[in-house]
Amino acid sequence: MLVGTFCVVFMMLVAGCVEGESGPQSMSERNEAMASTVMVRVFNKDGELVGPVSSDRVVKSDEQWASELPRQVYEVTRRDGTERAGTGELLNNKAEGVYSCACCGLPLFRSEAKYESGTGWPSFYEPIAAENVVDKKDTSHGMVRVENECARCGAHLGHVFPDGPRPTGLRYCMNSVSLVFTPADELGSLADPAAEAPLLRSAVFAGGCFWCTEAVYEQLEGVHEVVSGYAGGEARTANYAQVSAGRTDHAEVIRITYDPAVIDYAMLLEVFFTVAHDPTQLNRQGPDVGRQYRSAVFYQSEEERARVEAYIEELEASGRFGDPIVTTLEPLEQFYAAEAYHQDFVEQNPMQPYVRQQALPKVDKVRRKYESRLKGVGQ
Ligand SMILES: [Zn+2]
Repeated sequence: MLVGTFCVVFMMLVAGCVEGESGPQSMSERNEAMASTVMVRVFNKDGELVGPVSSDRVVKSDEQWASELPRQVYEVTRRDGTERAGTGELLNNKAEGVYSCACCGLPLFRSEAKYESGTGWPSFYEPIAAENVVDKKDTSHGMVRVENECARCGAHLGHVFPDGPRPTGLRYCMNSVSLVFTPADELGSLADPAAEAPLLRSAVFAGGCFWCTEAVYEQLEGVHEVVSGYAGGEARTANYAQVSAGRTDHAEVIRITYDPAVIDYAMLLEVFFTVAHDPTQLNRQGPDVGRQYRSAVFYQSEEERARVEAYIEELEASGRFGDPIVTTLEPLEQFYAAEAYHQDFVEQNPMQPYVRQQALPKVDKVRRKYESRLKGVGQ
């Protein structure tokens, strides 16, 4: 048990150290530390919605937003304001088309989902794509509400309530000034560069301490980005202090963004089960003990789930592992990026004792086993 808690204690010391030097991280620092890309759906030049594709997160300083946006748009989108009911220009707009983010142009709603709610704010029963509109708990004004933000730039859009019409029963109550309308016959004008880039996908795996698994996948050709983070629990507890204390449902996870034309999901699974971690260890991984270190695949489609199940059956049948595989299959509700000092930790801290003992042997193993698939080979 003493040994088991070593990593937790050690990692908390590391966390304490980092925060001690730079002071506690403010929310804006956290935001900057988040993944530099998001997976969203965008329009291509033919006016078709495609994706999810990887798009660069739009990050600007408060001063930049203030100088670029009209005053009222800035007040609502960047300062969580609310426009007066009944005043929005798009409130009574009945034209067919698409409503996009007033700050970054990400498509957010279709006219088909717009309805007259009688509230005085433009209302929709669903977003254009679940990836594009983020839910966030909002406890301001003495109420618990769910706030909606643009997934790409964090613009405040409005709130969602459970009193909408069918088929979703939801009411996305939006500020008109947060939205820009494009008529249906001009959707090509929303063409996003991300739509023309290679179609990237993401996979989310939990295999113990995220420093180690992140470092393993960073080696492989076709992997565009690996972000350490948390999944399986709630937004309010998605932080290192609470997750590492074992008081949440989160697991330490990595999100791998990859080009399926170069490296496929089958290969990611093979690396996960045979190099990145030991899938026979229940609620622990080496010296790290607790549910937060469980072995899990967070699947994003039924197809992914079926492929993981089939691969586990194959591994079990092969007798490769002496013990049963205990990996859990969990639907990915949301991925939360971890604090900045956890990103690229192994690369930044190659001399750390834990890194040398736990992570580097795995990095060596993936480099030996997949020599021809490493980044930079054959270029
Ligand atoms: Zn936006």
